Amino acid sequence: MRYLTELSLDAFITAARSVPYQQISSELFPGIDLWIRRDDLIDPLISGNKAYKLIYNLLEARAQGKDTIVTCGGAWSNHIHATAAAGQRFGFKTVGIIRGERPPVLSAMLQDAERFGMELRFISRIVYREREQPTFIGKVGYIGSNHWFIPEGGANALGAKGVHLLGRVINETSPVRFDECWVACGTGLTLGGLASSFKNDVLLYGVPVLKAEKAIQSAAVSWSRALSSPVVHPRILEGGHFGGYAKVTDELREFTGSLSRQAGVLLDLVYVGKAALLMSQRAKSSFQDASWPINRRKVLLLQTGGLQGIRGHCA
Ligand SMILES: *Cc1c(COP(=O)(O)O)cnc(C)c1O
Repeated sequence: MRYLTELSLDAFITAARSVPYQQISSELFPGIDLWIRRDDLIDPLISGNKAYKLIYNLLEARAQGKDTIVTCGGAWSNHIHATAAAGQRFGFKTVGIIRGERPPVLSAMLQDAERFGMELRFISRIVYREREQPTFIGKVGYIGSNHWFIPEGGANALGAKGVHLLGRVINETSPVRFDECWVACGTGLTLGGLASSFKNDVLLYGVPVLKAEKAIQSAAVSWSRALSSPVVHPRILEGGHFGGYAKVTDELREFTGSLSRQAGVLLDLVYVGKAALLMSQRAKSSFQDASWPINRRKVLLLQTGGLQGIRGHCA
């Protein structure tokens, strides 16, 4: 793998094209020929789908001569982490507006972000609710003028354009013809971006990892329509939040543990681990000997990153 050493679209596309696909052989997924696209490897720090959401934002910020990137998120936000790393790498100052009081000890993710040079500003959860209002940055007391604002999770039109690019790269580089593609959803933007770029012979499944399936479905559909038409219809699978956002059950922990022992694959517990667990449960419940191994469905799971967040669940 090449790392993202320069801020250019060509270099980014080259890196995206060289992301490996890993074929998984594990009894956890009966009847499925599972492949994982390892976008966690696109860069060790600017990792996963957040890299794709950032690329066009960073290019636009540079083109407009902005010297600072301002964004917001929670204490374990993968987007905050990736933005801080990208700022350090490509020469932007970064400001992270963080939901909630400053804790006595920062999360490992926020410690990284500070180490990458991000200025952290903590604000109350009440003010944070206004994060989509134009007055938000002013309310947190940020008065720099030459900044580019990226919303929570990288969820803006340029973020969606980056995920559209990911979908095109997948169309180009897939080692086999996939019947299904699965992606873990937070805002639903990644699902929507892919729906706008995939060929329509693939079933595109989104697994919401929080209890907001309806909102995620409509966000995905509107992002995809904003990017192109016609689009692949994204299908939302329910039951993948396993108790709610960032809730970790014993079953989830055991599942990701066996997956890493059996197949050497490490998945985070907030996003991709949950999507994979739902896939495994569904595969086991619909598995019939007669249909296996003939006609095994070829399924792509996107490893959208988040491994740096595992440190939050070691307790
Ligand atoms: C942010 C994130 C997602 C969700 O992406 P959305 O575009 O918000 O749906 C999925 N997986 C990982 C690892 C993430 O960090």
